[in-house]
Amino acid sequence: MNNHVHTPDYQNISAQEIEKFSQHAHEWWDEQGSLKTLHQINPTRMAWIEQYVDLNNAKTVDIGCGGGILSESLAKAGARVTGLDMALDSIEVARAHAGTEQLSIDYQVTTAEAWAQAHPAEYEVVTCMELLEHVPDPASVIHAAAELLMPNGMVFFSTINRNPKAWALTIGAAEYLLKWIPKGTHQYDTFIKPSELSAMARQSGLEVVALSGVGYQPWQSKTHPFVVTKDASVNYMMACRKVK
Ligand code: SAH
Repeated sequence: MNNHVHTPDYQNISAQEIEKFSQHAHEWWDEQGSLKTLHQINPTRMAWIEQYVDLNNAKTVDIGCGGGILSESLAKAGARVTGLDMALDSIEVARAHAGTEQLSIDYQVTTAEAWAQAHPAEYEVVTCMELLEHVPDPASVIHAAAELLMPNGMVFFSTINRNPKAWALTIGAAEYLLKWIPKGTHQYDTFIKPSELSAMARQSGLEVVALSGVGYQPWQSKTHPFVVTKDASVNYMMACRKVK
């Protein structure tokens, strides 16, 4: 974890990470573009989330929403969604796309920490997917997610495990061999073990409800090759409940 001082104006942002995603902002809704894997994973994670919460009318915040791939699916399932991202370019794309889909989603350029300060205990559902490995201090985002939740509210995280197999698949294969995602998208030392994520969650008053892996099984379906598995060794999702 980086050395930093927690001053009131401290912001848990990596400018380099924001810039990286901004460069691809125009591609958010290109299902064959550089963010293709997020489109492929999306139905899988949505079905998994819906096992744990009823999204209909649920007040929801999507942290690190990008162009709104997950936010829009949450809204289509009936959730009242606020999407947060620090990349203005991506938020503009998200707003425009929600407009064409006639979805009412409140998109904001802000951090989870700042939004939590203004809206504590307001949300039934928080999603924070494929974000924690892009921020300097993931514990601070996890803490903000917990602060945003009402008692008994649920938060859904996803990130990448840290081990040689995870390196080989998410960096070696996905970035270099198969070129699914741009080179430099991920850095190995920002990956988070499930034991580390659950420890940070507990420190913020969350209890772990479920841990699932996201596996690549292209023989299942060409368009949706990712499936929920018990193997959390590479990409994984964790559901937590805010303790009363
Ligand atoms: N959650 C989305 C997008 C993941 S990509 C999905 O899974 O489909 C990661 C996103 O996090 C990018 O849009 C990037 O701009 C954003 N991001 C990176 N650091 C951030 C921060 N500190 N606060 C808010 N968003 C951030």
